Amino acid sequence: AVMVGRSVRRRRGWRRVVRVLEELEEGCATPVGRLRQVVDAMAVEMHAGLASEGGSKLKMLLTYVYNLPTGKEKGIYYALDLGGTNFRVLRVQLGGQRSAIIQHNVDRQPIPQHLMTSTTEELFDFIATSLKDFVEGEGNVSEPWQGETRELGFTFSFPVKQTSSSSGTLIKWTKGFSIQDMVGRDVSQCLEQAMSRKGLDMRVAALINDTVGTLALCHYHDEDTVAAVIFGTGTNACYLERADAIIKGQGLLTTSGGMVVNMEWGNFWSSHLPRTLYDADLDAESPNPNDQGFEKMISGMYLGDIVRRVILRMSEESDVFGPVSSKLHMPFILRTPMIAAMHEDNSPNLTEVARILEETLEIPDVPLNVRKLVVKICDVVTRRAARLAAAGIVGILKKIGRDGAGGKTKGGSQIKMRRTVVAVEGGLYSNYTMFREYLNEAVGQILGEDVAPHVIIKATDDGSGTGAALFAASHLTSSSVVET
Ligand code: BGC
Ligand code: MG
Repeated sequence: AVMVGRSVRRRRGWRRVVRVLEELEEGCATPVGRLRQVVDAMAVEMHAGLASEGGSKLKMLLTYVYNLPTGKEKGIYYALDLGGTNFRVLRVQLGGQRSAIIQHNVDRQPIPQHLMTSTTEELFDFIATSLKDFVEGEGNVSEPWQGETRELGFTFSFPVKQTSSSSGTLIKWTKGFSIQDMVGRDVSQCLEQAMSRKGLDMRVAALINDTVGTLALCHYHDEDTVAAVIFGTGTNACYLERADAIIKGQGLLTTSGGMVVNMEWGNFWSSHLPRTLYDADLDAESPNPNDQGFEKMISGMYLGDIVRRVILRMSEESDVFGPVSSKLHMPFILRTPMIAAMHEDNSPNLTEVARILEETLEIPDVPLNVRKLVVKICDVVTRRAARLAAAGIVGILKKIGRDGAGGKTKGGSQIKMRRTVVAVEGGLYSNYTMFREYLNEAVGQILGEDVAPHVIIKATDDGSGTGAALFAASHLTSSSVVET
């Protein structure tokens, strides 16, 4: 049969496009053997980062969090959560009994794009104003410290060199933020100055990373929690470390205790990571080249843009997407939620894929085989991300001896593996089913069937914000020493 001219033209280059896909698959391959190498590299870098300042690309930041909230905390606390895409203000009422978060009000809004690259004062004035509106909007509630300065927990999800559990200086920006005059400044002080400019009498009682808030909330409900990981706009992990393992923190810790360490694993790098030309281009064109390499392969800010780059290349090398759409040249136009929607399109004709290609990328009339190709690209990119994330998690477990290795005694009997919980939070994990499934599957594959049942990946809700309120409260109550 003779095909009509248009579809013949459309198909020109199909072979080439298939070749591009095959190269992508090869470049993104994550067999379990390679994942185990990533696990080992993660554990090695963790050691190096704990040994000395600057000892590794993994900063392994000290948090000065020696104690996690116990559940005895009582009262009403506020928290601010500034991290990636959204900004939130929370009011949390704690009842003084474990699991008793009585009431929990949130105001959530997207961070205006221009503020991410403006000045420190503009960003913090916006935050202080939102907080003030929120606090005043709750005016009727009788508060125990009426007339006193209110205590605030501040979740600031960027790399911070803590100077105490309630203060610290910004090391660098990530996730598309870039306010140069802020680098090196004290984060809590910037907020407190903005609050006083706005006439709001509040004090930062705790300054934490979102991973630390997530760890605190999950640990509050489940004491077997040893680590927390964020998969959102950015990615990062923190965990409980023994004092004697934190070589660079000697003198700060008593040998019986421990501390929460903020790994800043987004900056992890290893030659074992499967890197493609798309990753190299994305990095080179980003505002922070040579930085956050692991994050750029995994987190929600970047996955969509990797997919866009693959489609652009295919479109340039063939006619299968019609003429090259100018939208394909626009960085970050294809957002990760769209990737999820296309990946999870179950309709027989992939109508959701067609709709996103048409509406977002202005590529109309994409034939079904090409739509399938797009789904496959999403699958390859997201699967790699999820499996590398899984290797990172197992790397932490290995570092703290919870990966089941050496699980047999000399006599060959199995040493009982302790129940181990890892808290996970973030939109990429909670909203993208395929990412979640691939991650859990890979954790199981790496650990093996004897160990995997003892490791529980637990999704938490709002730990990043609620956790900060818990810390604001717990600095007033006595709390238990971290047990590792
Ligand atoms: C930041 C981390 C943060 C993570 C998740 C990264 O870009 O550097 O501090 O925990 O994003 O929000
Ligand atoms: Mg967040």
